[in-house]
Amino acid sequence: MSATRGRLVFTDLDGSLLDHHTYSFAPAMELLAELDAAAVPVIANSSKTRVEIESIRADLGNGHPFIVENGAAVFIPRGYFSAAPPGTISRGDYWVYEMSGGRQRWLDALQHLQARFAGEFDHFYRAGPEGIMSMTGLDAAAAELANQREYSEPVQWLGEAARKQAFVAALEALGARTLQGGRFLTVAGECDKGRALAWLRNVYRAAWGVEEVVDIAAGDSGNDVAMLEAAGTALLIRSPVHDYPVLQRSDHVLRSTQCGPDGWVEGIRQWLAVTATDNHEHRT
Ligand SMILES: [Mg+2]
Repeated sequence: MSATRGRLVFTDLDGSLLDHHTYSFAPAMELLAELDAAAVPVIANSSKTRVEIESIRADLGNGHPFIVENGAAVFIPRGYFSAAPPGTISRGDYWVYEMSGGRQRWLDALQHLQARFAGEFDHFYRAGPEGIMSMTGLDAAAAELANQREYSEPVQWLGEAARKQAFVAALEALGARTLQGGRFLTVAGECDKGRALAWLRNVYRAAWGVEEVVDIAAGDSGNDVAMLEAAGTALLIRSPVHDYPVLQRSDHVLRSTQCGPDGWVEGIRQWLAVTATDNHEHRT
């Protein structure tokens, strides 16, 4: 009997699978083991860099593909699928699908705007590790990892709010796109967590040879909206510091009552229960 479908979990890390304050995922450990046993891959889809996510994946014992820097690229462990998916490039231990230009392109664009917006912005590369520590509150080791970026550059706007629009327009004229997060304006190419999700879902569908991939995306913030809109089911994780992100869709939307990993477990369990009706499921 051949499989007719498979299931995938896409998840934001900070404030979703990881506690907003402590970064703990302890409440989710039991469910992560169950998902593993049921052959439901958990795919990290984060604003974090490759090296940051590699460190968290090692802690999680997760060997699945992952999405970095807000959808800028998908990293697939080499040999994870039987062949390299179309459009990927080989890099180190990975097959990589890039949806954004490289960081250097955005550094060049910022350099180009340095004189016109003098003193009005700072960014990670120019600030260096010490500057990043004071901008973010990260310790030295974490600031070092956060600065090992490949596809995007976080900018801190220091000027008048009204001037920021002109700055964003100037970046867009240079081919960049910007995403406003809590503290930083991130400069990258035309990518987002939703497009990366859709690409990877199709790769699984082809690799598994299934008719349908049933998926859920879990996220707590504005930079998760594109992936929450793109997934079969959206799980909005309650945040201790801000409201749920606002979605256009209203169907197949779950909202956790608990925060962080407790809310993650709550919502993923609901989804598993309602999607567990088809026993012709893919098994690795
Ligand atoms: Mg988050």
